[in-house]
Amino acid sequence: MAFELPELSYEHNALEPHIDEATMQIHHGKHHAGYTNNLNNAISGTALEGKSIEDILADINNQSAGVRNNGGGYYNHRLFWNVMSPSGGGNPSGDLADAINSAFGSFESFKDEFSNAAATRFGSGWAWLCVHKGGKVEVCSSPNQDNPLMNGVGCGGFPILGLDVWEHAYYLKYQNRRPDYINAFFNVINWEYVSELYANNK
Ligand code: MN
Repeated sequence: MAFELPELSYEHNALEPHIDEATMQIHHGKHHAGYTNNLNNAISGTALEGKSIEDILADINNQSAGVRNNGGGYYNHRLFWNVMSPSGGGNPSGDLADAINSAFGSFESFKDEFSNAAATRFGSGWAWLCVHKGGKVEVCSSPNQDNPLMNGVGCGGFPILGLDVWEHAYYLKYQNRRPDYINAFFNVINWEYVSELYANNK
């Protein structure tokens, strides 16, 4: 079965003013749709057809650039929409908050490290918060549409929070002010969803 562009669980304007409507429409309806279609075209008629995206990413170093870029793009954006919510923001709680405090000392220190990873990723890429087996969390970044589920990329954990720092993710509203976009992202993070991913993958 072919991969499908997931529906957003909120309206395109629901993350305003932090993430603007026009960016969401183009980002979801054009960019993510493009990755999804190109992934389907790249695997059509090959041994990858019918495999899960996780299985495809785990073996990505044996695949073509087209599968890598579009498979990553399909997966990363699906995660990205889910880690944001109009009712997001604030701080995590429970086990995830404990893990963040244990790894970084405080939520503010985590925010600094994550923001720095996002701001210093040169060119296009992503910043991640990942969980390792055992529950330790770590921040990393990756180029292009790579992610830590790909062998040798980032910190190698399971990504539970991802921030797209491609210019297409922020340029209409923020132009060259990537740090402002990163700061705004913290107002829409869906910590309940991130906590679920933490609990299910620690
Ligand atoms: Mn993107």
